[in-house]
Amino acid sequence: MKRVQCPNCGAIVEYDDKSVWEGNRDFEEVNCPNCDEYLTRVFTDGFPNPHIIKK
Ligand SMILES: [Zn+2]
Repeated sequence: MKRVQCPNCGAIVEYDDKSVWEGNRDFEEVNCPNCDEYLTRVFTDGFPNPHIIKK
């Protein structure tokens, strides 16, 4: 898990950046669940599933 702070609303957002299968990965965008600001993107085969730790 990684954490990033939203530059727009200041929320601390935690997201999943782990990847299980090699070779099946793609870039997934991570947006702030609070204000929908684009935060980052992760290279994963899953879904980053971002959620707010602290507003
Ligand atoms: Zn935000």
